[in-house]
Amino acid sequence: MKNILLITTGGTIASTETDEGLAPSLSTEIFFKNINTKNNFKFPPDCISLFNIDSTNITVENWQKTAQTVAENIDKYDGFVITHGTDTMAYTAAALSLILENINKPVIITGSQLPLEVENTDATKNLSDAFTVAISDIKGVYIVFNGKIICGDCGKKLYTEKFDAFHSINKDYAGKIVNNEAFIKDEYKKAVKGNFKLKINMEKNIYIHKITPFDNISIIENIINYGIKGLILEGYGMGGIPNTENLNFIPIIEKCVKKNIPVIISTQCIFDGVDISTYEVGVKAEKAGALSSKNYTIEYAALRLMHFLGNNIDLKQY
Ligand code: ASP
Repeated sequence: MKNILLITTGGTIASTETDEGLAPSLSTEIFFKNINTKNNFKFPPDCISLFNIDSTNITVENWQKTAQTVAENIDKYDGFVITHGTDTMAYTAAALSLILENINKPVIITGSQLPLEVENTDATKNLSDAFTVAISDIKGVYIVFNGKIICGDCGKKLYTEKFDAFHSINKDYAGKIVNNEAFIKDEYKKAVKGNFKLKINMEKNIYIHKITPFDNISIIENIINYGIKGLILEGYGMGGIPNTENLNFIPIIEKCVKKNIPVIISTQCIFDGVDISTYEVGVKAEKAGALSSKNYTIEYAALRLMHFLGNNIDLKQY
């Protein structure tokens, strides 16, 4: 019989109506009542209420604490279910994918668009599905939402209300859950090579700048002077970065490179990723020393940069 640790962190799934709108407050007993799959794992599962916040208020320290809790309990449990607000779930999944290096057990993050106690909520299904996947032989960090199993490094919330809120970006789904049964692709069940390592360090001092046609270059210059350690420019399409006298980011990139501040070029498009070698507006940025965020989501691109800087990993491998 498998032993799963439930870690709750708040979010809509744990929220009730207050005078000032929905706020996390539900007790773990309500969670247990809403787990429909009770086969093959110790029920009720052990539970740690780590924090009880709207995920809007998530911090790097919250990620570190969550990862530490998993690491401390790694030998005691067969898998982990983490309930979490949906708004920053993609960031948390990306963070845990990087911090929990080579984890050989399921770490399943879920939440819901409606609170557990609301009629016709999606919470019951998502929570039950998360347990179904947590007792499977999948390995690593995943988001389980609306029957989809999404790798932790490529999840994204695309809808504010729809139950089918999360999509896997630029990577196939790891699997799906139908009627409490998990169908998982073989490659995600393979034993992970290498020893488990808790890579807790994250450089917080990075900045993501979304480029617009009406940008003010002096704002971004000030941000660099403020002492950031890494910069992500969210450009257009394939990774286009303005380079005319009206608006020119090339000197900014050169300045960063001179100061040893890595500049990553990302895109405002959701799908397909960037290829900065396609257009002159990308090539010029590349020649100035910028790196490509490839097909990473903006959430994963940011967390990867924070992880690389925090652990002194050569940015050439980014
Ligand atoms: N604001 C909520 C949160 O992210 C939304 C949700 O959980 O669906 O905590």
